[in-house]
Amino acid sequence: MASYLGLVDLADYEHLVDTLGSESAKYLRQDFFSRLQEWPRPDDKTRILKNQRFLVIFKGMDTPAALELATAKLARLFEEPCDLLGDPVAIPIHAGFTLLEDDTQTAIQEARAALRSAKRSSTLYQLYSPEQQGRLKDEVQLISNLEAAVELGELQLYYQPKVHARHNNLVGAEALVRWHTKNRKVLEPSHFIDAAERHQVIRPMTWWAIKSAVATMAQWSPELGISVNITPSLLMDDEVLTVVRDALDIFSVTPSRLTLEVTENIMADNQQVMLAQLAKLRKIGVRVSIDDFGTGYSSLAYFRDLPADELKIDKNFVVKMLGSPKDQSIAKTVIELAHNFSLKVVAEGVESKAVAVRLKEMGCDILQGHYYDQPLPLSEFDKRYKPNQQ
Ligand code: C2E
Ligand code: MG
Ligand code: MG
Repeated sequence: MASYLGLVDLADYEHLVDTLGSESAKYLRQDFFSRLQEWPRPDDKTRILKNQRFLVIFKGMDTPAALELATAKLARLFEEPCDLLGDPVAIPIHAGFTLLEDDTQTAIQEARAALRSAKRSSTLYQLYSPEQQGRLKDEVQLISNLEAAVELGELQLYYQPKVHARHNNLVGAEALVRWHTKNRKVLEPSHFIDAAERHQVIRPMTWWAIKSAVATMAQWSPELGISVNITPSLLMDDEVLTVVRDALDIFSVTPSRLTLEVTENIMADNQQVMLAQLAKLRKIGVRVSIDDFGTGYSSLAYFRDLPADELKIDKNFVVKMLGSPKDQSIAKTVIELAHNFSLKVVAEGVESKAVAVRLKEMGCDILQGHYYDQPLPLSEFDKRYKPNQQ
């Protein structure tokens, strides 16, 4: 008879020790184990493993519905925060499950893989699935190739022109990463950015992008700027401030020529920290742009205190604008909203002259899109736009 085997773990014990101190973390761990005592049924087997994970075998339980009940109980047991001397602190847990047929060691390995994937996806639990593990293996391979690519200089920034809507002159470019792989393929970010963001490699990649964009600007005429995309999670620590400050210092570039683009969903988590970090960047003199605007769910209230200089209307609204009155209304609303809060507006995804003209009539400040140009390798951008000699 098959039974589910599960492993339960505290989310990140080292982090708990760092943030709460070792005594409180220890107390929280005791609370974790004592709550787990109430989870199994009398005939189930449990054990605490050497690495402090809790192992359970739900004897005879082999249907997803029964597992769902068991995990619902697990969630209930950890609903209440732990009371640390009057301070309520949530107990962050994850679990991984698999079906135990006969080989316990294999089942433990599978549950461990499922637990890892629960941690990675920030979900309470995952059930082992061989296909998913296959995908994970592919991702591990991709990440290791990408790490090597950063080291070997296989990443390049391409530059897409940004044009002043009324004067029609070049105002700068957005830097967009491309990966020139060993087998001569050029990969666009959709093939690797999401995976990079799930792993640490996004960090060296982004620092490299900031430095090389600033180095490029040092070669360009002083009125031209460059925008670099930055993943919201990297704003959470102060390293970004050091990287930006150092790059601008080393290359003697005026801070206001660098724009950092962050997506609208920065506000989803840790709003206060994100706002504070954006404010610190602006204090250095760097510009902040809210990318893909209109696709998230920001409340109007957040505009009041938003430390930003620019909104970028998401290309999905811009591309179809002329055939879709609704998209056009959204673009118009974003432009008005931005101007009411003294922000500049960039439209990306401008693919035709007609759209460019309409956006200009609507008061949009800056235009970017295939109508003007694709993202270009630096040498090509230099040849076409002569940014060094404006
Ligand atoms: P994004 O920042 O919103 O960049 C705009 C995307 O729209 C780019 O895709 C650009 O090539 C594409 N685009 C430009 N004009 C047009 C147009 O007229 N029509 C259409 N349909 N598309 C247009 P790309 O280069 O594939 O980048 C995709 C996303 O990858 C970027 O979206 C950005 O979120 C991310 N990304 C790119 N480079 C970096 C990077 O260095 N770091 C990070 N963290 N993310 C990056
Ligand atoms: Mg962008
Ligand atoms: Mg965008």
